[in-house]
Amino acid sequence: MVKVEDNYRHKGLRKKLIDEISQKGITDDRVLSAMNKVPRHAFMDSGFINFAYKDQAFPIGSGQTISQPYTVAFQTQLLSVDPLNRVLEIGTGSGYQAAILAEMGAKVYTVERQKDLYLKSQALLERLNYRVNFFYGDGNLGLPTYGPFDRILITAAAPEIPENLLEQLKVGGRMVLPLGKGSSQVMILVKKTGENETMSSEHGLFVFVPMLKGKE
Ligand code: SAH
Repeated sequence: MVKVEDNYRHKGLRKKLIDEISQKGITDDRVLSAMNKVPRHAFMDSGFINFAYKDQAFPIGSGQTISQPYTVAFQTQLLSVDPLNRVLEIGTGSGYQAAILAEMGAKVYTVERQKDLYLKSQALLERLNYRVNFFYGDGNLGLPTYGPFDRILITAAAPEIPENLLEQLKVGGRMVLPLGKGSSQVMILVKKTGENETMSSEHGLFVFVPMLKGKE
């Protein structure tokens, strides 16, 4: 197994990126320090390696993108993850967000509907020594046998709040999702306040790839 190189240049560029994100308003030290540890360049195709530490989204193959670092930081901060939280992520993509959550000490369950991405990210996170539970399937269904979860994070644009996922969230838990069918989505934080009770708040506009039904 080839070790992922993480040299001084990578570390220096990463620190600059973290400073940039914190200047843009991310204040949660747990998020910033996790992002300072995960080697983002390992999640990109080698042709894009020089772009790994720019605050931009990037193509990762299969028509999908690795989210912009600021967006990852924003969603993670809103999710407010504590160590040992059971966290369900919908849309594994490159596995970068899952690695950040694992770095923060969460027990991560992540679902991806595209088989090649599922296989690739699983192999990469193993190589990087992150223990994350990977699932190939339709995230709209959640993971009923592994729930309930303390936190649920959707990293694709959801046309509506998925009922199945709300059911799999613990009372007192939080779900973060980009909501909307158009070209941009509203970031929503849903707090589950009772068995059949939620409180939602809106947190600005973002752009995500759509959350699709079924699997490929
Ligand atoms: N979190 C990722 C970025 C995700 S991009 C990262 O850190 O890189 C959104 C991902 O959601 C894509 O990989 C897409 O294939 C996946 N996706 C879309 N609809 C889905 C669904 N219904 N279930 C699971 N994954 C889905």
